Amino acid sequence: MPAGRRGARFLPLWNEKFRFACHPGVGCFGECCADLRLILTPYDVLRMKKRLGMNSSEFLAQYTLLDWEENPWFPMVRLRMREEGRRECPFLTAQGCSIYEDRPGACRLYPLGRGARRGHLPDVEEEFYFLVVEDHCRGFEERREWTLGEWLEDQGVLEYNAMNRPWMEIVTSKSANLRKIGEEHRAMFHMASYDLDRFRGFVKKSSFLKRFRLEEDELKGLDQDDLSLLFLAIRWLKFSLLGEMTLEIRH
Ligand code: SF4
Ligand code: SF4
Repeated sequence: MPAGRRGARFLPLWNEKFRFACHPGVGCFGECCADLRLILTPYDVLRMKKRLGMNSSEFLAQYTLLDWEENPWFPMVRLRMREEGRRECPFLTAQGCSIYEDRPGACRLYPLGRGARRGHLPDVEEEFYFLVVEDHCRGFEERREWTLGEWLEDQGVLEYNAMNRPWMEIVTSKSANLRKIGEEHRAMFHMASYDLDRFRGFVKKSSFLKRFRLEEDELKGLDQDDLSLLFLAIRWLKFSLLGEMTLEIRH
């Protein structure tokens, strides 16, 4: 389940094993799925809107809020908690997470967190992981043992990391071009990152296809393949916002 809140302790995790299990039998089941500031990535949104049979604009309107605190340049989106009671996640039920197989990356990682720090090489950041220990979480009292690698594999975190990496390169970029971005660029970022069905309409109706040369399989994927569309959207953002030659211009 999801990222830690105020009062949590953060313990670095390297090669040692940790004990943890989460299942409907723990006394705290579902306690962690409330009152969260849960930032979503484009791949999270893609999986969730597909699971719910919604288009991206409907999903964003119903289940998300804009978040301006996470990143200095771009608005992120976060999951909208229920307004009433203890502000539970809208997908929490008495049986647990109703979208478990498509839950966001942050929910998969919990009770771990991920950070980045400067590595041995200049300008290269290394990621590291830590345990998020919260008093209410009884999962640490269970017997099941994990290494970091086993947990990341079992929870599907590695797949999500791979899908998120190209987009993370944009939101963590130090490009000088970012100093010039304005409202129009922020709107581009929001559409291409999160509102994939609107981006699809934009690609088809604007001069996009006249301006850029796409591969045959990308053109075929425009209608049905959300993942290929997302990677195209990310290349367009890198081209437009960071000045990288990620798209071929038609002459
Ligand atoms: S064991 Fe921890 S992760 Fe599982 S439901 Fe309880 S608080 Fe949440
Ligand atoms: S998406 Fe599922 S796992 Fe994540 S906070 Fe909501 S109910 Fe919990």
